[in-house]
Amino acid sequence: MDPQPELRQVADGVYAWIGAAGDSNAGAFETADGLVAIDAQQYPRLAQMFRGALTQATGRPVVKLIDTHCHLDHTAGNIMFADIPIIAHDKTLAALNASLGPKPGKYWTLTDYATKAKLLFGQNLFELVPEDDPGQAWFRSRIGLPDYDTMVIAPPTETFADTFEFHVPGDTVRLRYRGPAHCDGDITVHFVKRKVIFLGDLLFYRRFPWMGDCDLNGWIDRLGEVMKLDIDVVIPGHGPPTDLTEVKRFRDMFVALRAGVENAIKSGLSEEAATREVRIPEFAGLQRYNEWIATDVKAAYRYLKGR
Ligand SMILES: [Zn+2]
Repeated sequence: MDPQPELRQVADGVYAWIGAAGDSNAGAFETADGLVAIDAQQYPRLAQMFRGALTQATGRPVVKLIDTHCHLDHTAGNIMFADIPIIAHDKTLAALNASLGPKPGKYWTLTDYATKAKLLFGQNLFELVPEDDPGQAWFRSRIGLPDYDTMVIAPPTETFADTFEFHVPGDTVRLRYRGPAHCDGDITVHFVKRKVIFLGDLLFYRRFPWMGDCDLNGWIDRLGEVMKLDIDVVIPGHGPPTDLTEVKRFRDMFVALRAGVENAIKSGLSEEAATREVRIPEFAGLQRYNEWIATDVKAAYRYLKGR
């Protein structure tokens, strides 16, 4: 049988929905009014499975949804939550608006490959991997699933800047924007007393990340801030629940990559030479390292050169 997503209770009243084989995660927590879900999965079929599993496990309705960021693997399931308020950071709504343009009605309908690909992998995807580059094949197959044919996207209905808090029995749930990092609009969902944090795509568990249009310095700084929190359980955007040692390891990887690219720039290497030569062998065992190191070096080179 193919791997299946799995609902796990990670603390009293807090649940993590762990995507199958590294697919995007989601989560939920109990409030007096019902459950608040965190992220909506990458297409409606999975979103429905997630929402059904929550209600089955807890017997409670889902009353609100939070989007941790704009990428389609976390927001394309919004449509299955369109009957309830959807909360996100201002920048998440702004990114969806900028990318998808005016809505004909309440929702966007999306069929075009390039728009989908950029909303999954960053607006500069085609600058990093041009349309005629053989590397495009991976992205095309990633988005080639029938579930991705026509996507109907429901926008966030309530947005905030900086911080938004839920007060639940015995805890404060803090939604916090910490500045640009993995994309522009990433928020963390922190259960202050329960010492649990959902990091969205600020963390990929033991996977070399696609860096696309990330803010590299911002991402490193944000992970450093998270490491200073008092946390027992960390839910990454992809992969199983973990702890702060993985956050440190992930941050160390970016620091090594940044140092490698900075050295290349200082010694006058061209973008092409740096893309070919800069490697971080101590992290080469990470999933997707071989596939993505060259493009990530290219992205970092452009970022650090300020281009
Ligand atoms: Zn993402």
